[in-house]
Amino acid sequence: MTKLPAPELVTDQGTLRSLTFDDIYYSPDDGLAETEYVFISGNDLPRRLADHDSGRPFVIGELGFGTGLNVLAACKCHEAFGRGPLNIWTVEGFPLSRTAFAEVQAQIAIRWPGLKPWAERLVDTYPEPVPGQTQVVLSRGITLTIAFGPVRESLNTTDIEADAWFLDGFAPSRNPEMWSEDVMHAVARLTRKAGTAATFSVASGVRAALETAGFSWRKSPGFGRKKHMLRAELTAAKSKQNRAPWYARPAAAPQGKVAIIGAGIAGASVARALESQGVQPVIFGVGSRDEAASSNPAGLVMPRLDAGDTPAARFYRDAFLYAAATYRALEGRSFTPCDGSLAMEPDRADRIEATRLWPDGLLSSADGKVHVRQAGMLEPRAAADAMMSNAILVEESVGALEHDSGWFITTRDDDQRHGPFSAVALATGAAQELWPGAPIAPSLGQVDVFAGDPPPSIITDGHYVAPYGEHVLTGATYARFDGGTVATSPDNTEHNRDASTQLLGRDPGRHLASRASLRATTPDRHPIAGPLYDEAEAITAYAGLRTGLKQDYPSAPYQNGLYALTGLGSRGLVTAPILGAHVTAEITGGVSPLTSDVAAMVHPGRFLIRDLKRGKINP
Ligand code: SAM
Repeated sequence: MTKLPAPELVTDQGTLRSLTFDDIYYSPDDGLAETEYVFISGNDLPRRLADHDSGRPFVIGELGFGTGLNVLAACKCHEAFGRGPLNIWTVEGFPLSRTAFAEVQAQIAIRWPGLKPWAERLVDTYPEPVPGQTQVVLSRGITLTIAFGPVRESLNTTDIEADAWFLDGFAPSRNPEMWSEDVMHAVARLTRKAGTAATFSVASGVRAALETAGFSWRKSPGFGRKKHMLRAELTAAKSKQNRAPWYARPAAAPQGKVAIIGAGIAGASVARALESQGVQPVIFGVGSRDEAASSNPAGLVMPRLDAGDTPAARFYRDAFLYAAATYRALEGRSFTPCDGSLAMEPDRADRIEATRLWPDGLLSSADGKVHVRQAGMLEPRAAADAMMSNAILVEESVGALEHDSGWFITTRDDDQRHGPFSAVALATGAAQELWPGAPIAPSLGQVDVFAGDPPPSIITDGHYVAPYGEHVLTGATYARFDGGTVATSPDNTEHNRDASTQLLGRDPGRHLASRASLRATTPDRHPIAGPLYDEAEAITAYAGLRTGLKQDYPSAPYQNGLYALTGLGSRGLVTAPILGAHVTAEITGGVSPLTSDVAAMVHPGRFLIRDLKRGKINP
């Protein structure tokens, strides 16, 4: 039911026409010139991008992604003038299929050769449109986040702070929803003070909607045969939140150096995302080269499949697609695509299919199994190293983290003090010394390698068997860990052998190796990614939740510039990359790939809020 409607399209005098709306996507005379006039100059972008060196990304929002021509023009402008990173957020409810999109980009590249490299990059990265928000990196510094879905719903589940808007629905008479008062209110809420908007339309309804939403507008000469266009500026301050106050977006960290503690897949994912935003982090490795799961010989990149259209279902889908794309793009050969299958009751498989959340052809079910394309095996150590190859690596474990005029990190063995850092991301897996009381429990897992022939693809049914070069990798066991050494056991090897014999239908062969590692698990089994509270202040601020008191609660009291990415459980290889981009957006003030409901779902403070509501904490 959630499948997005495809537009009915025809080419018409050098432009594309939507029969669904009976309107054109861009001007047949010179679409690029019009875009540059109305949206790029209309928002004064050449000057503003050149002046923008605050460290946080310049954020453009757009209503109506369509063919992506405006986005290409913005990239070209940024290439010529931009100084800092650029994050573009756009919404599209009637997306072009990947095939139609590629055809349009080929035409755009012929018509405007200056856009060709960007058009090609857009084709390479354009995702199969499925409902929800998806983010791609177009170049170092530029991310594009596309919300595929109806405009209202998409605006109401995002949390951007835009500097400039391209209001580019079809003509208001044919596409009133895109210009309605509530849509303009949502746009205003997602705009910085003094942020701007530009549009080709001067319809009175559009002017009125902008005005009631808090924009002041003026007409200026239009492009070509059009007499006028509108330029608007947000003059009235708006409440910014789509999230509950206790999950509010933190203010961007002050400009300065960023540290990551933990050099496993979580730390590496934050590093990669920060670098895509022009930030070179310093990474401190704490034990991640030994007992952490990131040092397992290989791990699965397989999705969690949920049988309903929920924030969790969308999150695990998006995480899988983002991870597969990230690993495919890595230098080296750490990722081996090999497809996979999950054992599943047919009626559950039907319910998953009925969500229509997955790209066509990615999942198929037969004989009690769901087959997954794009899955694969990852060598986490090699992948993490490739992801942080440009970061500064301090291979020391961290003894202390303190805040005075910035964050200072003291390494344990050499007692060196590093800093100040304006932001620190904790990516320390199951180790909790630096976040006392973290809602994380370690769980012990063992994987084994056997010498038999590998299966052609991953097979999972609680346990898994997977190809590992010429051999079979199998796992993983689960056991509580109460301290002591992290050790393999022959019992676990036998357990893994039995499970793989069942899954393969044959003995997996001679035993070659075992490895035990700790997973970091959370009470609700979802990961943790985002800003950390000053817990004492949060308990005081939200004491009223205990009695369900309705009041204007203040925005969350965060520790200035402290974030976590942990609690990845057994799905870290899948969830880390997208969460690395989320934590990066929270640090820089940029656009997160996550919708606001998912950001709340993974918020580090959710357990404290839950315990306050249940009366388990006495303020
Ligand atoms: N900016 C685009 C470009 O560069 O090609 C052109 C946008 S076109 C004029 C308007 C777009 O708004 C179409 O792609 C259309 O599918 C989209 N749209 C119209 N109504 C919508 C709605 N209610 N929700 C989301 N998108 C919508």
